[in-house]
Amino acid sequence: MATTSSEKTLKDLFVHALKDIYYAENAILKALPKVISHVKHAELKKGLTEHLHETEGHVKRLADVFGELGAKPASVRCEAIEGILKEGDEVISEFAASPAGDAGIIFACQAVEHYEINRYGTLLAWAKELKMAPVAKLLKATLDEEYKADDKLTKLAESGENREGIVKTAASAAA
Ligand code: FE
Ligand code: ZN
Ligand code: FE
Repeated sequence: MATTSSEKTLKDLFVHALKDIYYAENAILKALPKVISHVKHAELKKGLTEHLHETEGHVKRLADVFGELGAKPASVRCEAIEGILKEGDEVISEFAASPAGDAGIIFACQAVEHYEINRYGTLLAWAKELKMAPVAKLLKATLDEEYKADDKLTKLAESGENREGIVKTAASAAA
């Protein structure tokens, strides 16, 4: 029998959010190769390719979290990541061939990383609250990689490539 909403616990919410991020990580894993294929800047391509491999690890780690809970990995469709990925796809279609292409890809990828930092940050806080130390350890490992991926994107964006792309686009629009 399904529990009514008044009987739901923080643990139930944790499991719901876990299924949500499991869906999201699989969707990101599927979307990244196409994104990477459009990157021009070598370091950005390398960074995103590394993060693609880390993302495979994120999916595996989540499966381990389900295992810790004595459950099989399961998904619930995440409308948030669907929206973020759809927007990224639109930006790539519109800008990938332009001098602002890499700036658009960083823009789209940082939206994904911030979403993940948000979700793993919350899940980690709840895992601690629920006294699930082994689960918290797994979530923290992924959260750290998401922060690093985001920092790398910020550094690349500020290194000139991104600004240059934006400036070039603005200049050609003004011409
Ligand atoms: Fe991830
Ligand atoms: Zn969601
Ligand atoms: Fe990520």
